[in-house]
Amino acid sequence: MPKTADRLNSALGGRIEENVILSPHTSFGIGGPARYFFAAHTTSELVRAVRSARANGLRFFVLGGGSNILFDDAGFSGLVIKDNTDKFRIKGGIVFALSGTIVDRLVDATVEQGLGGMEYAAGIMGTIGGAVHGNAGAFGHAINEILESAVILSNDDKIEVVDNEYFKFAYRSSRLCSNGDTVLSVRLRLRAEDPLQLAETVKDRRKFRRERHPVNMGCAGSVFKNIRSLEKPDEVTPAGKLLEEAGVRGMSVGGAAVFDRHCNIIVNRGTATSEDVKKLVENMRNAVFSNFGIDLEREILYIEP
Ligand SMILES: Cc1cc2nc3c(=O)[nH]c(=O)nc-3n(C[C@H](O)[C@H](O)[C@H](O)COP(=O)(O)OP(=O)(O)OC[C@H]3O[C@@H](n4cnc5c(N)ncnc54)[C@H](O)[C@@H]3O)c2cc1C
Repeated sequence: MPKTADRLNSALGGRIEENVILSPHTSFGIGGPARYFFAAHTTSELVRAVRSARANGLRFFVLGGGSNILFDDAGFSGLVIKDNTDKFRIKGGIVFALSGTIVDRLVDATVEQGLGGMEYAAGIMGTIGGAVHGNAGAFGHAINEILESAVILSNDDKIEVVDNEYFKFAYRSSRLCSNGDTVLSVRLRLRAEDPLQLAETVKDRRKFRRERHPVNMGCAGSVFKNIRSLEKPDEVTPAGKLLEEAGVRGMSVGGAAVFDRHCNIIVNRGTATSEDVKKLVENMRNAVFSNFGIDLEREILYIEP
């Protein structure tokens, strides 16, 4: 009976790597070894990798830019599939992009062509696949506003074209968060706008991020989701404001610390472990709960080993 690695290798062109340290593949810079690791450069490789994991009864994790996750120090016991399928085409107001396309590259390309709708995403890290998974957004906009349809590999192993409705998008969530489908490509509909104006907006958004986000320190963006009023969904209380008022500024655990310019961000000061981050997250959540009776919902995803 061939070993799992041999079976994966025979399906994936001998390119399976073993015990690959995950920290360099994440924006947090945290994470131990993946038992198996495969970098998919084409959609068919991505499909084959997911199917091989399923055929071998292995857990798998599709890794985009690694900018919204916390891997464990113990790593990941199954197959990590790194989505490097970075290709897109723009025709008229329509963008076709493979799931591994870097969002920020797409922002530049669409703005250059005078297409509006993606400028909100300037500076958001990661891939289109990751953005669809978490309905990535900023400045009051999110990817659900421009996604027309997508090709997915469903959790029951079918390749299907699905429309926007399918994803059940909500604030920083989609049905992918619970059902395990894999996005293979997307079709986005944008609108003609003044390229100079768009470029100006993009410049402002990037400046805003440079001034408020950590530079040269690991992080994974907002730790918690903002609070939306159930009665008035447009009324948003930033989690950062509650955290600040609850006194989390200056908190740290080991190598993980609350970022001094934004209380809803945890930075890795260089030596943070996944346990440090998890303990700090709990301390921050407890501070808000004991001050305001509000239980913040985590936005960063913990990936079980
Ligand atoms: C400094 C900083 C600022 C940030 N600012 C924002 C912000 O303003 N708004 C915002 O929304 N987010 C923000 N983020 C978080 C992050 O950039 C987004 O959530 C991003 O969309 C994650 O994409 P990714 O490719 O890195 O996904 P990953 O972190 O790699 O993965 C996230 C999830 O998506 C899944 N996934 C990835 N690819 C696929 C696929 N092809 N099919 C199915 N599932 C897939 C993964 O399995 C995982 O469950 C920020 C992060 C950082 C570090």
